[in-house]
Amino acid sequence: MSFLDRTLRSFLLTELVQGMSLTLRYMFRPKVTINYPYEKGPLSPRFRGEHALRRYENGEERCIACKLCEAICPALAITIEAEPREDGSRRTRRYDIDMTKCIYCGLCQEACPVDAIVEGPNFEFATETRAELMYDKQKLLANGDRWESELALRLAADAPYR
Ligand code: SF4
Ligand code: SF4
Repeated sequence: MSFLDRTLRSFLLTELVQGMSLTLRYMFRPKVTINYPYEKGPLSPRFRGEHALRRYENGEERCIACKLCEAICPALAITIEAEPREDGSRRTRRYDIDMTKCIYCGLCQEACPVDAIVEGPNFEFATETRAELMYDKQKLLANGDRWESELALRLAADAPYR
């Protein structure tokens, strides 16, 4: 750019006018941003968020302690201990997930034969300490109870593609 061009552009404030016109153009277009956390974007039914252990409608735990999720977890994040109950059914005594190890691959959910362990829609579970990310069975069952209606809808939406 010649000296004359540069001088003229400086005096006529060309770049400023170009910038302002761009701003004006976007002022009247639909906004692409949302006011998070008060507004949230859509989530796919396959979104893999915080884990939950589900129950049947009668309140019984779905998990039958087959340990397939523990075996398939590539991050070795799941620890299960099992024992038979008095009625002979097999259930977990301990079901822990170390969420600091989890890579949210979804393989535990895929491996589960009874849709017990699932990854739900919740992505707002940041914590201040690592200890809070060591989930035990009570925490996972509580997540299941809290999110059950959405979890069931998500599984139903995804069922035709399985
Ligand atoms: S999502 Fe993947 S890494 Fe996380 S617990 Fe399940 S299998 Fe393991
Ligand atoms: S969550 Fe599912 S895969 Fe894991 S032990 Fe229980 S029944 Fe088996």
